[in-house]
Amino acid sequence: MIPIHSVTSDDQSQQINSLENHPDKPEEACGVFGIYAPGEDVAKLTYFGLYALQHRGQESAGIATFEGTQVHLHKDMGLVSQVFNESILEQLPGSLAVGHNRYSTTGSSRKVNAQPAVVETRLGSLALAHNGNLVNTVQLREELLKSNFNLITTTDSEMIAYAIAEEVNAGLDWLEGSIRAFHRCQGAFSLVIATPTGVMGARDPNGIRPLVIGTLESNPVRYVLASETCALDIIGADYLRDVEPGELVWITEAGLASFQWNQQPQRKLCIFEMIYFARPDSLMHSESLYSYRMRLGRRIAEESPVDADMVFGVPDSGIPAAIGFSQTSGIPYAEGLIKNRYVGRTFIQPTQTMRESGIRMKLNPLKDVLFGKRVIIVDDSIVRGTTSRKLVKALRDAGAVEVHMRISSPPVTHPCFYGIDTDTQDQLIAATKSVAEIAKQLQVDSLAYLSWEGMLEETREDTNSFCSACFTGDYPVAIPEQVKRSKLILEKVVV
Ligand code: SF4
Repeated sequence: MIPIHSVTSDDQSQQINSLENHPDKPEEACGVFGIYAPGEDVAKLTYFGLYALQHRGQESAGIATFEGTQVHLHKDMGLVSQVFNESILEQLPGSLAVGHNRYSTTGSSRKVNAQPAVVETRLGSLALAHNGNLVNTVQLREELLKSNFNLITTTDSEMIAYAIAEEVNAGLDWLEGSIRAFHRCQGAFSLVIATPTGVMGARDPNGIRPLVIGTLESNPVRYVLASETCALDIIGADYLRDVEPGELVWITEAGLASFQWNQQPQRKLCIFEMIYFARPDSLMHSESLYSYRMRLGRRIAEESPVDADMVFGVPDSGIPAAIGFSQTSGIPYAEGLIKNRYVGRTFIQPTQTMRESGIRMKLNPLKDVLFGKRVIIVDDSIVRGTTSRKLVKALRDAGAVEVHMRISSPPVTHPCFYGIDTDTQDQLIAATKSVAEIAKQLQVDSLAYLSWEGMLEETREDTNSFCSACFTGDYPVAIPEQVKRSKLILEKVVV
């Protein structure tokens, strides 16, 4: 007899994976939050920071606080609001904290891989939260195993924590040890690290993943670190500046000290953070991403105009670009799809009939608005194309007489190795099909993608200061051959 109440967190996560198996979008790979604020309820502030960053990872959440030398840790599978409650937060006292939301790209979806990772050193505990992905984990793992570290998780984040511990145990202090360890790491890492004496924030030399600094009220010794500015807004902190590529900031009772740990930094912020991952109300380069995404819509309206009766976006991420498209084209903007915003994850599998109707669990077409109309639907990206195809069918079933699709980014032709889950290359529809072939497969009347130049020029920043490798294959950090083999089609790719 099988017990019916035996589902553990780990079992649940397996079910989540099979149920939501690779939604047809690239998936973000974690949100991080750190705070140094003696006298404040740092656990609760970290909770709300993670709550604002929930979109960056929904598999697990964790908070570690330091009360002097003692570390308090709670982490589990699930959303921030499921993992924590008032009484758990009360058991996390201290003057500084780090927190993490996880979406797994390395290491499987298991409770043991939840972060922060806590390791012991000769100077006391350290708690580390990581956003990004290392590309040299095979080499780093071998080095750490040789040094007799007992790696208990399958994450690259634990390896960074142990690399710091190894350097500290060799006699270095927190700063020197961390810098020495960062030099052993290749790839993308935005880190927040808590120790008994302070909180550290650091970015890799390319600054691939974001990390910002904020101040709490006007008190200069209360600092916050977060993946995005939306996590500062929710706790009333003011944005101070970004942590720079190759920079380490060390926040202690003496204030904030900055160290340029890498002398050859270059800016290569992930352009997908701008297009899709980060929340539209987060600031990057001093403006909201909502404004940038609207400009992308205006640009594609100029590049690929089409006549129609109405334009709308795929909720929520396609909406700003659809509004921009409408402004430039003069074609009225109207909601054509309604998203069910009131549900979380479900553990109940839909029926076969429901599964065939696919996307209607989340998105429902407005039949009376769509009936008899020529429509333009705007989305931020197409990865495999499976959801887009179901969406087009649903619009036609609702009575749309023409369906034109505009995508506010170029075709995704290459996988990501820096912390974003974009499938293997053979699953990317644009890696093996032309735009005309994709249009045919999606059964749209026309399809156009934004140009690569348009995407970068509309940032109004130096166009060289972004990673756009998933559109070009031009990876800013070299990918070791064996890692490449895990995701890339190594024969000639038709693009
Ligand atoms: S490869 Fe794509 S998703 Fe990955 S960091 Fe570069 S731009 Fe971002």
